Amino acid sequence: MWHDTAPPAPSRPPLPGTHDADVVVVGAGYTGLWTAYSLAVADPSLRIVVVEAEQVGHGASGRNGGWCSALFPASLPSLAAAAGRDAALAQHRAMRATVDEVARTAAAEGIDCHLAKGGTVVVARNRAQWGRARAEVAAARTWDRGEDDLRLLDAREATGVLRASGTVGATYTPDCAAIHPARLVRGLADACERHGVTIHESTRVTAIEPGRARTAAGDVRADVVVRATEGYTPLLPGQRRAVVPVYSLMIATEPLPQAVWDEIGLARRETFSDHRHLVIYGQRTADDRLAFGGRGAPYHLGSRVSPAFDRDERVFAGLYATLVDLFPVLAGTRVTHAWGGPLGIARDWCASVGLDRRTGLAWAGGYVGDGVATTNLAGRTLRDLVLGHDTDLVRLPWVGHHSPAWEPEPLRWLGINAGLRATRLADAEESLTRRPSLLARATAPLLG
Ligand SMILES: Cc1cc2nc3c(=O)[nH]c(=O)nc-3n(C[C@H](O)[C@H](O)[C@H](O)COP(=O)(O)OP(=O)(O)OC[C@H]3O[C@@H](n4cnc5c(N)ncnc54)[C@H](O)[C@@H]3O)c2cc1C
Repeated sequence: MWHDTAPPAPSRPPLPGTHDADVVVVGAGYTGLWTAYSLAVADPSLRIVVVEAEQVGHGASGRNGGWCSALFPASLPSLAAAAGRDAALAQHRAMRATVDEVARTAAAEGIDCHLAKGGTVVVARNRAQWGRARAEVAAARTWDRGEDDLRLLDAREATGVLRASGTVGATYTPDCAAIHPARLVRGLADACERHGVTIHESTRVTAIEPGRARTAAGDVRADVVVRATEGYTPLLPGQRRAVVPVYSLMIATEPLPQAVWDEIGLARRETFSDHRHLVIYGQRTADDRLAFGGRGAPYHLGSRVSPAFDRDERVFAGLYATLVDLFPVLAGTRVTHAWGGPLGIARDWCASVGLDRRTGLAWAGGYVGDGVATTNLAGRTLRDLVLGHDTDLVRLPWVGHHSPAWEPEPLRWLGINAGLRATRLADAEESLTRRPSLLARATAPLLG
């Protein structure tokens, strides 16, 4: 849907043969392109090459829900446990600022990615969800996060933003912009090229080594090699257990008439979810469709990634049923597109970015479902690391963080799929009992 509703993209030639550069970036999603862009703007003399196996935006960057948010996959308590309270709060502040940084750069580069900073509303639709909403706001206050950061909305305020069925209240944060993902990734690639970056498509990197990225056509030799392959990382030699590819799937409706939007709300294109355990997410697109997604697709043994996994009719049907349950006015509405893609999850659910000065190998990833803004922070951070600039960005706690490796199979498969199943059952239990799930409490370590 995103690629269907974006202007046509140019096709870029594959790598013609062995080539020398200063920096080679593997992967032309947001991570790779924000990194190349930030470096090229900071030092126009650098020779920067981006190598992409398919086309610009082929991965999650061209397929996502378009929440450009301040969400970071690791919680404040877990960041604080590793790096201290001040460092955890610095990460949170950096994420909030990044949402505006994406908007600023998009405007400066003339990237029309349909950005609307309406914030995010997360509704509570039963007593258990309402308890979690209140607990989340109470916890935020203990981190000095005030009303300007996260607010509790009563039922009247909540339904003034989003009229989801059964709403008893909501949380609201202003720190999110709805975007058109493919327009952002394609616009970013064009901006990179305007700043002198070379992008090669249809060129798969077969190995990343100090000083080179290997491809069938030849090597790109460079002092710095940046791995920006996120959910596809396990396919690279030596990276099988670095992150797991977990699929998130989406559907989109046809453009909806104003009368339907009068029933639903989202007048400022707020992104939305509810406080269930399984992640769901939605946005009103600039052309008035409802784009809606969720996790819950199975993890595939051996961290396999395949176009066949982008579609799962059972999950699509479940998403449609959830959408109609949230907004009964949508019953019978036509779904025009359905798709999915892999995101990357590190074993400790903490995204990370870093550069090993000894080998020149750099990486960023493990964003779970929160990569749209975080990749921009990663790109600016890699810029400072590569250029040796001692900035606030390179002192954030996720910099140089090494997540443990995932378990070998079949333990990995058993654990992840048991977690997904427990999540679904916990939501079903809560919608029946309206009370906090006992199962969720018992299986908390699996729920991530
Ligand atoms: C359905 C879905 C919904 C999502 N919704 C949201 C959301 O609303 N908000 C949010 O913040 N995040 C969301 N995410 C996550 C977000 O999209 C990602 O975190 C982000 O796009 C990651 O960007 P990336 O550049 O690191 O990875 P990707 O965009 O996956 O890019 C990696 C690129 O590397 C290329 N590549 C891989 N291997 C090789 C190789 N060997 N050689 C050359 N190239 C290679 C791939 O083809 C791909 O283009 C969602 C993800 C999915 C799948």
